[in-house]
Amino acid sequence: MMRSPTRRKDRPRCGAKTRAGGACLVRAEPGKARCRFHGGLSTGPKTEAGRARIAEAQRERWRAYREQPDRQRVSRPIHARAPARVMGS
Ligand SMILES: [Zn+2]
Repeated sequence: MMRSPTRRKDRPRCGAKTRAGGACLVRAEPGKARCRFHGGLSTGPKTEAGRARIAEAQRERWRAYREQPDRQRVSRPIHARAPARVMGS
């Protein structure tokens, strides 16, 4: 089963110097020189503006998801669900 030319085993080792003194053995991210711990992946928004931007984008995605008319799973508010059975009652 060949899925992609960047299979994990074909990717180079990260090689970043670790706190233990050795070289990082984790495979590098596709197209990058380092692994996800050593700069290969984004670590997310840091500024207030950036955090607000991703929050708004996520709200928009959820809104679009909720408005799918043929969605199978129906998500109701937690307070509308049957109360949980309490042990020993
Ligand atoms: Zn690494």
